[in-house]
Amino acid sequence: MDEKHRSLPFTDFSVTFDVHVEGEQVFVSSGATHSAPTPFSMFGIWAIPPGIPVGSYHFGRADNVRPHPSAMTVVLGSDQLSMWARRCPHCTWYWRTEAPGLVAAAVCPYCGKHSEAWECLSEAQEAYVEAVCAVHAQVTNQRKSGKYSVYVKDLLEQYYSSDDGQTPAPPEFFVETEQQSKFKCDECGMTNNILGRFGYCSTCGTRNDMAMLRADITGIRKRLSEGGSPISGLKDLVSKFDSLGRRIAQQLLLHVRMVHVRRSRWKDANFSQLALVSEDLKRHFGIEIFRKVDGGDQAHARLMFHRRHVHEHNDGIIDAKYLEDSGDTSVRLGEHVTESMGDVMRLTGIVDKIAANLMEGFHQIMPVHELPIRIHKDQRERMNSRGG
Ligand SMILES: [Zn+2]
Ligand SMILES: [Zn+2]
Repeated sequence: MDEKHRSLPFTDFSVTFDVHVEGEQVFVSSGATHSAPTPFSMFGIWAIPPGIPVGSYHFGRADNVRPHPSAMTVVLGSDQLSMWARRCPHCTWYWRTEAPGLVAAAVCPYCGKHSEAWECLSEAQEAYVEAVCAVHAQVTNQRKSGKYSVYVKDLLEQYYSSDDGQTPAPPEFFVETEQQSKFKCDECGMTNNILGRFGYCSTCGTRNDMAMLRADITGIRKRLSEGGSPISGLKDLVSKFDSLGRRIAQQLLLHVRMVHVRRSRWKDANFSQLALVSEDLKRHFGIEIFRKVDGGDQAHARLMFHRRHVHEHNDGIIDAKYLEDSGDTSVRLGEHVTESMGDVMRLTGIVDKIAANLMEGFHQIMPVHELPIRIHKDQRERMNSRGG
């Protein structure tokens, strides 16, 4: 995880205007050219002056329909890491992504809501669109056929410099800001850059919680195999699963209509109470976290989760609650218990399975975009068949 909040300027490219005067009519088409050594990608939108985005423009596609008589095309350029800043029109939070949301609607990593590529422009992108619309109006009014080209930096500075000639262009909103963590989605292969660690992939909508949990489980297994404390491993493992479950419960609360009793049940959901939570997930959402987990493993997981409670809250001394909840007859009230590496290791595999079942059930309620996932899969298969 990189924890930078680096500023990332737009890549320097030129905005071009192709003006064609025919009698009373002036036709202007705008585009972009790029020659800097930094990476660059672009996409187009339709905007209505003075800079209101109204649709996506797809290069090279014949089915682009002008959504409004005064709509013009504006080419947006990526930042210097060839990524796109996005701002959710629903929750207003900000992120960066490798794909702006043209293959399928962009998914907000934080609230999970969908929006079209042109609906989630960052402040810097909005300011840029406004400046392009203004220059578009200028070249239209000049009524001179020809090709015009201006560096994006110059264009922004000219438009946003004040009339007194002393104020430099405010650079702050012409740059994007690198966010806390970057993750490459396992499903669609696209990179996301978000605040915090967990969220939806902006391109396909798959949450990254499972990938993050697997990384944590790998760490726990490594520590165990290097002689680390099984009790710490157990506590850590249950805590990671609990926080994954709580995040999913928050998303269910956000996206699924529920009666009040259910809302309060999931608001305070405690996923370390494995038996209770598994029953309620099944009753309320049809999510079966013990699917394809054999009876022996289910019993082991339930027991170990109860044991975690004893270690977390009673220093490993068996209490009445443990005996009642777990039904364990192999230990006595007041006995001090420890855990074996093998038992905790076994639990890591079971937690992996039940978390995967939880995520699968969740994505049946919050479906992912299949198209970017299929494209990625096809690309991988082609690479493999080439032996690459
Ligand atoms: Zn959002
Ligand atoms: Zn994805």
